[in-house]
Amino acid sequence: MAIERTLSMLKPDAVKNNITGKINSYIESSELKIIAQKMMLLTKKQAELFYEIHKDRSFFLELVEFMTSGPVIVQVLVGENAVSKYRQIMGATDPKQAEKGTIRGDFADDISENRVHGSDSLENARKEIAFFFAECELV
Ligand code: GDP
Repeated sequence: MAIERTLSMLKPDAVKNNITGKINSYIESSELKIIAQKMMLLTKKQAELFYEIHKDRSFFLELVEFMTSGPVIVQVLVGENAVSKYRQIMGATDPKQAEKGTIRGDFADDISENRVHGSDSLENARKEIAFFFAECELV
């Protein structure tokens, strides 16, 4: 089993609804550790760059608007198979498909406001962590 790092983001709807502590308890109940965490308000440019892969999708403008609508919490999680483990804890992208017991299954109703982001591959985890954190911030 490989020890990995992954990037987690608690999206504006999670902060607005005051459920970041509850979400962190899902993370901490698994074997993942939060090794860095900060609250920030994404600029339009940051949100566009972060979700660049979706720039041609019909929901891109809506996504950027949502991601800049309020503060987010970005986190780095570490643990065995952290990338796939966190994807399991998050649940399916569309909360209607997400299983109960997952963050999206328990706290979200709609794909456009699905509470959390998690890297989908080790390569993207490295890029996304570097997008938000300097190595010296990972403790
Ligand atoms: P994720 O890795 O599970 O977050 O899913 P994706 O990378 O496929 O999509 C990125 C984000 O775009 C999702 O988490 C949603 O917030 C958003 N998204 C995806 N599909 C839709 C859609 O059909 N409509 C809207 N409004 N947002 C979407």
